[in-house]
Amino acid sequence: MTLDESFRELGLSPGSSDADVKVAWRRLAAHWHPDRNASPHALRKIQRINRAVEEIRQWRASGYADLQRTPEAPAGAPEVVVDQQVSITLEEACAGCSRDLHGEVVEDCAECRGSGREARSSMCTRCDGEGRARSHFWFPWLAAGGPCDTCAGRGVVHAACSACSGQGRTRPRKYRCRIDVPAGTRHGETLHVHARVQGRQREHALHLRVSVELQQHDVFRMEADGTVQCAMPVDGFAWMAERWTEVPSPRGLQQMRLRRNALTYRIKGHGLGGADCIVTIEPLFPAELGAEQQLLIDRLIAGNTGARGTAARKRMDAWQAQLAGRIRRQAPP
Ligand SMILES: [Zn+2]
Ligand SMILES: [Zn+2]
Repeated sequence: MTLDESFRELGLSPGSSDADVKVAWRRLAAHWHPDRNASPHALRKIQRINRAVEEIRQWRASGYADLQRTPEAPAGAPEVVVDQQVSITLEEACAGCSRDLHGEVVEDCAECRGSGREARSSMCTRCDGEGRARSHFWFPWLAAGGPCDTCAGRGVVHAACSACSGQGRTRPRKYRCRIDVPAGTRHGETLHVHARVQGRQREHALHLRVSVELQQHDVFRMEADGTVQCAMPVDGFAWMAERWTEVPSPRGLQQMRLRRNALTYRIKGHGLGGADCIVTIEPLFPAELGAEQQLLIDRLIAGNTGARGTAARKRMDAWQAQLAGRIRRQAPP
């Protein structure tokens, strides 16, 4: 199980904090404990969870270096640019959050300056320092006169660097860095973090380019300008009665008064980076009214004086009176 897989096993994003790991483990262990969970997979699941926690614990204990953040790039010093990615939820984008990033620094071996070979050379024993491949004893036409394979024609060889076993590079030094994702960060934005990290042989100036990915949300839809859209069903009767209701915004549930003539509502400043959150409601009525509801509706209709005295009602009444008069005139005596 890799480190990232271990975090995923716990339902966490890579680099989550120790506190997050502890909370996730407690929750999952309580849910999957074979004493309490009858699922045939419970035992295997709990083993995977424990393995993931152990993997993360070992990584934490493996002596990674903490980055020292610097406000900007140190002047003159060559920088190592590292690309990283963080994935955040819409709520985190609205409120701001922090993340632990981790990575590795590999540097050239200081002994051999990255060549992987000792500086001192010795004579090539294959060609006796002549640089030319010697003729084959039995078949002299096979390798006559070409450059020696072993020393590439130089006549001298360099032994592998003992400091780096010929790799030319140090073992990677792991580091971690806590970065702050400011409130209002959008999808696809790049954050720049400058830091110093003590490698195995020397200090490095790091430039972390962190691209931010905003996760899809089940409730909210994001627009390019930071406006957050949300559709929500509400009780049709509560809407008619202009009751107070709770509507979601990225900052949590908000109290809002329904208005009979309105289906969209704007919650100012609750979107991303000062933009608004727009809630579109869908008033829902029962497909069929129950007997008691029928009775109540009848009483509502009977008591409704809404149309009385309106201009439209008066026109209707006048037309009906006219119609009645005509019928009376046409009727036989
Ligand atoms: Zn040679
Ligand atoms: Zn070396």
